Amino acid sequence: MRKQRPLILVSNDDGIFSNGIRALAEVASTFGDVMIVAPDRQQSAVGHAITVSTPLRAQKTMVAGIFTGHAVNGTPADCIKLAHNQLMDRKPDLVVSGINHGSNAGINILYSGTVSAATEGTILGYPSLAVSCTDFSEDADLSGCREAAHKVIDYILKNGVDRGVTFNLNAPAGPLKGVRWARQGESRYVEEFEGRVDPYNRDYYWMTGKFEMLEQDGGSDIDMIEQGFASLTPIQYDLTSHKLLEKLSETVL
Ligand code: MN
Repeated sequence: MRKQRPLILVSNDDGIFSNGIRALAEVASTFGDVMIVAPDRQQSAVGHAITVSTPLRAQKTMVAGIFTGHAVNGTPADCIKLAHNQLMDRKPDLVVSGINHGSNAGINILYSGTVSAATEGTILGYPSLAVSCTDFSEDADLSGCREAAHKVIDYILKNGVDRGVTFNLNAPAGPLKGVRWARQGESRYVEEFEGRVDPYNRDYYWMTGKFEMLEQDGGSDIDMIEQGFASLTPIQYDLTSHKLLEKLSETVL
């Protein structure tokens, strides 16, 4: 019996009509059948938010005239849940999210809707991958990201991913030196707010964060990207500090 082509669920947080999701769908389609379920609008930095107080609607649409898709009025995590629960005839063999326009290395992982779509795939039991380009611009050269995504999807379909683990891939714009395993770099945003006044004379604030690296050891995802490589980081949604828990478990409270 001929083996069925893998089914790959594609999502993102920049919205279903972004260039990045189209690029990732094209890469995924070289491995199997593609179904796109993604937000109907920009949802960057919504993290793992889910919609509970308003109904979700999925509008059937075509992406780039070739891919079947659903535009959902919800978050990236909503999209994966809805796809898994309602929209797909069979379960996906892989969930991919991206290509995000903007880095999801370091602390960005926590705020990212792109990564959360992939994490939701992991929670539901599917091998999942988030792909991001460190260049924010909508027309960034995604050739290196495509190449890296192709390599990693091939690896995942052959080797699988451990339960509870999501792969987070980041690549610079333009050509690539290769893909390197890396840990999440310790970093943070130092928030700055620009204060303004609206036409009704009320104050409002606009957040403008500055990214700050908190380590200089080398070997992090951010270091790899700076050297012209794509970084591949296995991440997990289990937020327990196992190291500290083990140490503290001897302590009587
Ligand atoms: Mn985004």
